Amino acid sequence: MTGLAIEKVIPGSIAEEMEIEPGDRLASINGHPLRDIIDYNFFGAEESLTLEIVKDDGEVWEVEIERDGNEPLGFIFPSPTPLQCGNRCIFCFVHQLPAGLRSPLYIKDEDYRLSFLYGNYVTMANIGSEEIGRIKEQRLSPLYISVHATDAALREKLLGKAGIIPIMKVMEELAAGRITMHTQVVLCPGINDGDALEGTVADLAGLHPWVESLAIVPVGLTRHRKRLPSLQPVTKRYAAAFVAEWSRRASSLKEKLGGPFLFLADEFYIKGGVPFPLLDSYGDLPQLENGVGMIPLFLDEASQILERAAPLKPFSATVVTGESPYRYLADFLNALGRITGVELCLVSVKNRLFGAGVTVTGLVSGRDIIAALKGRGLGDMVLIPDVMLKEGEGLFLDDSTVDEIEEALGTRVVVVEATPSGIYEAILQRSDLI
Ligand code: SF4
Repeated sequence: MTGLAIEKVIPGSIAEEMEIEPGDRLASINGHPLRDIIDYNFFGAEESLTLEIVKDDGEVWEVEIERDGNEPLGFIFPSPTPLQCGNRCIFCFVHQLPAGLRSPLYIKDEDYRLSFLYGNYVTMANIGSEEIGRIKEQRLSPLYISVHATDAALREKLLGKAGIIPIMKVMEELAAGRITMHTQVVLCPGINDGDALEGTVADLAGLHPWVESLAIVPVGLTRHRKRLPSLQPVTKRYAAAFVAEWSRRASSLKEKLGGPFLFLADEFYIKGGVPFPLLDSYGDLPQLENGVGMIPLFLDEASQILERAAPLKPFSATVVTGESPYRYLADFLNALGRITGVELCLVSVKNRLFGAGVTVTGLVSGRDIIAALKGRGLGDMVLIPDVMLKEGEGLFLDDSTVDEIEEALGTRVVVVEATPSGIYEAILQRSDLI
């Protein structure tokens, strides 16, 4: 079918005025056929528009629109169906998932369009000259690129695929087209560290400012790695030595390039038990979604909350977290409890679903929460960070729901933003009800 299916029409919008309805298709704008929402945004930016609408019954309408400036047309389209990757990365998290999780988790998406729209990381291993031309023409910038290694042979080994177009060739072309890129390396000890990493960092820094940032994140290994290549985990000792070496190199690069470029994921500092740099050193936090700078941001916000917190009507609550951020959260909750008089008990949940090597909060499942809390005195409510749930759907990774947890524990469960202010707001609201 040609064009884009219209999912919703915003009431009172130009589209509604034109009697365009959900279920109709927007086939073209000003004669340009539409492949996806990116084409819609690109070709739909003009003030004078001719829309070709295919109605539900097959009738074709031509709709002329004159609008003021950027007045929205009022269409809502579904997200594009992601293209799938043909790689077999040796560290792929999808290959390490147990059976029985939410089905979208098994999708191996690799789509430069989603990289532009939502900041998803892509390897560009399936990119062709047509797509590169489109990226440059439509200025799909910034893009988020999983580099892992710039050496072509090593990259093929890491991606588990032969005959991939060298990533530097792709990125040089994008840089020449003035496309900004954020990049990452998933660090596999003994494979793409050492000299290989030095080469990768130097190559990417050579494309600065078009390569705006590079995050190094440690490989994540679950206990479900049957029939997969053997990989070394990032140990405490490795992480501490890595931070010592690479934070020094990040500082020299910062000086050389005139701003922060190379970032180490929070997990390195947590695993290595070494202090974090100051929040200021993360610039405008370009790799926050990639787990870079989250703890410094949390600590900074925590100190602001503690400055304004005041005594509340006393009650007790349990706060749930993954194992990694436990010590940072514990310090904050202890201090908040002392100021407010609220008894806050922090429980770190062991990840039995993925295994002991997975300690981040966002990968904690509902059943593991129940196992960690069952039989404990939980107080008046249990606070669960929203990052454990699928956005907008209230489902944990293992498909369990907040209601099921509430029923199993016999205590009120409140989902809160995983930030100091999210926790503080939740206890303020509870205290107001007493
Ligand atoms: S690109 Fe690699 S890590 Fe990402 S989904 Fe594909 S195989 Fe997995």
